Amino acid sequence: MSSDWLNRWNRALREQHKLLFDYSNKRMKDKFAHYTDCPVCGEKEAKLHYEKDWFKFFKCHNCSMVYMNPRMNVAATHSFYNSSANAIYNESKFDNPSVTSDFDNSENISNLDAIYRYGKSGGKGRFLEIGSATGHLLERAKKHGYDVYGIELNKKMCLQSRSVLGDTVYDIDLLDAHFPAEMFNVIYMRDLIQHIPDPKSFLLECNRIAKPGATIFIGTHNIEGLIQRIVKEKYTAVFGFMEPNHFSPVTIRKILEIAGFEVKDIHFRSIDVTLGTIISYFGTPSFTYVFPPELGKLRRLVVKLLYAPFFCQPLRYLDTHITPSIANWFKLGSWMNVIAVKK
Ligand SMILES: [Zn+2]
Repeated sequence: MSSDWLNRWNRALREQHKLLFDYSNKRMKDKFAHYTDCPVCGEKEAKLHYEKDWFKFFKCHNCSMVYMNPRMNVAATHSFYNSSANAIYNESKFDNPSVTSDFDNSENISNLDAIYRYGKSGGKGRFLEIGSATGHLLERAKKHGYDVYGIELNKKMCLQSRSVLGDTVYDIDLLDAHFPAEMFNVIYMRDLIQHIPDPKSFLLECNRIAKPGATIFIGTHNIEGLIQRIVKEKYTAVFGFMEPNHFSPVTIRKILEIAGFEVKDIHFRSIDVTLGTIISYFGTPSFTYVFPPELGKLRRLVVKLLYAPFFCQPLRYLDTHITPSIANWFKLGSWMNVIAVKK
């Protein structure tokens, strides 16, 4: 991330924040706020878990789901996704192919392999990706013999992937797509469920359009992971504008069960779980802060001293190879790839 990008991003983010919040009482304006009970189990009682840039995240007393309340309503969410802030965000995430391609390709291959292992369709049937971005995964699934379908709300990316995959990629919300019942053999979503305003209705719709025994794949971060437990609200994905839901192995299993799926496997991934990254979270605030906290001189010095050994190549190598495996082994990985089947 260049400093020019960071400056433009932070300026745009502050503009959005000013629109969304009443600065006299630090509360989300009523016309943009949607108040909710636990989006997994419906419980009303919850305890304040994190507060970041005036966005409040609660932990459900009953099922332990971490969720933002109030969250942005549909109008506010759409307005953010069409804002200049989101366009600047996409520059870093999608518009620079060298950033995404290598990592995404290896993820796509291993995720498709996992779907083969647990699915019954063996490369046959209809494969839907929700949030299909530029269509890399669908391209690969198509080569494996699936009939591919995509949903991508970003018009530019939708058109781009249509030119490769054909007209079965739609820029429409899943709940408005009205696919026929029991249409799909595989439903795939990576880096998506945490953004969905009402994840339960969304997964119930997935269940309706899935064939009996169909495979559903969900990739999302684990709010109970090792790094998330240590750095708390400093974690990049604790970002009120885009991420109202924060699942753990317990809560993703619970919501999938409620929606009529049975979890078969949760595979952890932890590329950001290193001692070096954990230390740097305490020295450099994540780019998802609207108001990055001021750090004292002493704290900056301590972080610098703690981080210094990680400039040493062998130590860095050990840290990036061993620490993630330890987190995964203890089921405290930062990311979960969840495979479930329709009951
Ligand atoms: Zn709950």
